[in-house]
Amino acid sequence: MTDIESLLQRNRDWAERVRRDDPDFFHRLENQQTPKYLWIGCSDSRVPANQILGLDPGEVFVHRNIANVLSHGDLNALSVIQFAVDVLKVEHILLVGHYGCGGVHAAMTGARVGLVDNWLRHVGDIAYKHAELLASIDDVGLRHARLCELNAVEQALNICKTTVVRDAWSRGQPLAIHGWVYALGDGQVRELGMDVAKYEDIGPAYASAVADIARVAAQGRRDG
Ligand code: ZN
Repeated sequence: MTDIESLLQRNRDWAERVRRDDPDFFHRLENQQTPKYLWIGCSDSRVPANQILGLDPGEVFVHRNIANVLSHGDLNALSVIQFAVDVLKVEHILLVGHYGCGGVHAAMTGARVGLVDNWLRHVGDIAYKHAELLASIDDVGLRHARLCELNAVEQALNICKTTVVRDAWSRGQPLAIHGWVYALGDGQVRELGMDVAKYEDIGPAYASAVADIARVAAQGRRDG
């Protein structure tokens, strides 16, 4: 059996298993999509949204790109956010970075990979913004972990500043943005204190999240 045939066989087995456990499952899904959550995460194959959250199909709307970047000029990501907020009416947007992110590492070290270097420049800019904090960390692994956290906080901040999110808040739609980081080593998500449910909370949440990362850096803690 070729790899592709085996994939298709796995799909048939999965569909059969699901149908056996819950005969109405696919019929229900076909007729409605009402996820409460939008996950924006890294394309990394080790960071799958549904499995990590223990959610079934239909429960989380997902956008992934290399190094979980939310760039203000990215029509693709902005369209996902707009559809999720305005049409699906998700109540939470989860920006989920992860420790050990290869994209963040390349941005940190200036490694040249190809076209993707231009995309990773967004993360490089964050490293530049926090150069002093990062330079204070001698251990490369710990510096990488802190940049993974800073990137998640900064990308969550970018989400908060989009017109889509600000318009939702100004019309009183319940919507919270959360900056998280996922640890490949134990399968658990860490909160970063970047939780924003209204415009006025952006500044204080961001300042406190960055201060927490600086504190962890100063203590040399080995999170991630
Ligand atoms: Zn990654």
